[in-house]
Amino acid sequence: MATQSSTSLQDLIREDFLTCKICYDLYVVPKILPCLHTYCQKCLEPLVENGTIHCPECRLQSEAPGGSVGLKTNFFINSLLELFQMKRNKDLEEGSVPTSDHEEFVSKWQKTMAKKATSIGLSPPPNCITWVMYAPKRF
Ligand SMILES: [Zn+2]
Ligand SMILES: [Zn+2]
Repeated sequence: MATQSSTSLQDLIREDFLTCKICYDLYVVPKILPCLHTYCQKCLEPLVENGTIHCPECRLQSEAPGGSVGLKTNFFINSLLELFQMKRNKDLEEGSVPTSDHEEFVSKWQKTMAKKATSIGLSPPPNCITWVMYAPKRF
């Protein structure tokens, strides 16, 4: 059976480090304030007033003469986002993320095994549990 531990760790990282506290979505162009709080560039833009910005979390006032575009990009968050995307794409490729894909794989695999079994003169195992016992270890 598939383990959930890696998925929940990913979810934790996404919620704690990669989610903007203004739009509650993954960061888009993460900008870091001098107080080290990070928000999307687009979320900070409306908060810039007369070349200054107040952090929505700690209220620290910072200079932002060029608007939110001029703030420092949080490269740490940016690389985490990239890593996260890469891992997600890899999971999707391997089919280990969506349950429906996994179920489809298992049912295909059962059919293939049933054909093999009958072709060598065995009767196919009667139910899923037996198939799971025969299944490769990662299932
Ligand atoms: Zn945002
Ligand atoms: Zn702050």
